[in-house]
Amino acid sequence: MNEQRIPVAMPDLTGNEEKYVVEAIRSSWISSSGPFNQRFEREFAELCGARSAIGVCNGTVALHLAMLALDVRPGDEVLVPSLTYIATANAVRYVGAEPVFVDVDPATWCIDPHLLEANITQRTKGIIAVHLYGHPADMDAINQLAAVHGLWVVEDAAEAQMARYKGRPTGNLARVGTFSFYGNKIFTCGEGGALTLDDQQLEIRMRALRGQGMDPQRRYYFPITGYNFRLTNVACAILCAQLERRDQILEQRRRIFARYREALADIPAIGFQPVAAWAEAAPWLFCITVDEKACGTCRNDLMELLTKEGIETRPFFTPLHHLPPFREGSRCRGEHLPVTDHLGSMGLNLPTYTALSSTDIDRIATTIRRGIR
Ligand SMILES: *Cc1c(COP(=O)(O)O)cnc(C)c1O
Repeated sequence: MNEQRIPVAMPDLTGNEEKYVVEAIRSSWISSSGPFNQRFEREFAELCGARSAIGVCNGTVALHLAMLALDVRPGDEVLVPSLTYIATANAVRYVGAEPVFVDVDPATWCIDPHLLEANITQRTKGIIAVHLYGHPADMDAINQLAAVHGLWVVEDAAEAQMARYKGRPTGNLARVGTFSFYGNKIFTCGEGGALTLDDQQLEIRMRALRGQGMDPQRRYYFPITGYNFRLTNVACAILCAQLERRDQILEQRRRIFARYREALADIPAIGFQPVAAWAEAAPWLFCITVDEKACGTCRNDLMELLTKEGIETRPFFTPLHHLPPFREGSRCRGEHLPVTDHLGSMGLNLPTYTALSSTDIDRIATTIRRGIR
């Protein structure tokens, strides 16, 4: 094979990333205080329309910190989708609580607001809505129901940086927003995360928990048990450079999305991610679904063919209620999640990164067409 291998994701570090990292190193501010930390938190909060942003060392930790700050405890239940990255449910477990899985809406692929109520018990404390594959969840419906039952809502926006719901940016659509800046996310610093919120009391609690529980008024005095969840100034240097080029990065990824849609439009067995009328989805990883009945090829066979041709893809998330840490509890609760199961078996993420060329996309589309008859 002489054609170049196409990975599923690749960071775009072609702006001031290197320059700012060198600047951070020369300044000797390489730990978790420094000018890039402050600049990142200020700029990211503003972009999300939130009062504050708190940088943390990854997106999983952002969810964990949200659970800690919201005082989620052993015995509590949290409603989550099953079609998501495992971090969403793991964070609930870290505080001893139990994730209860709710099916997704076929119109958004996000947690279905109509199915929430039936899953609420005496133990339910809150809901984590995941903006799956860049598409925002129906937050008004979710927030309304949560308010009726006295629940909090967290939005896991790891995959939906700069998405919009009815014109409002993700990160400002619930009590707390959480983000990831892992290497395959839209904006990245390798490993990093953030929380966004308006509530000042909650912010104070999160900042204390992030920094070993230290009293903000009294250095090296620790009134509570905290954690070291901090983000470095070096990582923030990369993030600041990424945010400078946010429009360019988003624009290039959107162009890739449009090209994929065009190149694959005439294959009836291939489906696309739906976009709700009120949604402006973030262009994370381009999604297709493979209708086995219509084309005689299943998702896994198509993936195998693409791999053989040097094209890396990624199957949709294995629904969490089938995974060993969660399946027994889920079975006991009798969870039946047909939309999740269907999507989980037929969905595929295609390569999406700014350096992906039109020629690459055409090659991917040609290979897909060859796999489908
Ligand atoms: C990436 C991701 C996370 C966690 O991010 P890390 O930075 O890898 O810890 C959480 N939730 C979802 C939905 C994600 O896609």
